[in-house]
Amino acid sequence: MNEKNKECDIIADLLPLYLEEITKPETNCFMEEHLAECENCRKNYQWMKSSFTEVFSEEKKRKKGKKAKMFKKVKWKMVMYAYVFFLVAVWLYCVTDLLFGF
Ligand SMILES: [Zn+2]
Repeated sequence: MNEKNKECDIIADLLPLYLEEITKPETNCFMEEHLAECENCRKNYQWMKSSFTEVFSEEKKRKKGKKAKMFKKVKWKMVMYAYVFFLVAVWLYCVTDLLFGF
């Protein structure tokens, strides 16, 4: 295995991290330099990028849907709590009214 292939292996390993933009600037520099001169890795990168963005945007959509649902649930719970609180308040008001004749 020559130096070039070794670099290609490293690039292949780092591609997912690079696409997620969690690599360090130094790594990005190394990646970009290699991608500029290595057609194989560039192809690999472009293919990964297209499938990655697809998966990523789909996941984002799914997460958004989940959030909306969760928000609805939380809202519903808050209404329930408010209702229970209101009942207790009314009940307390009645009880104190009866007991102490306010
Ligand atoms: Zn390469």
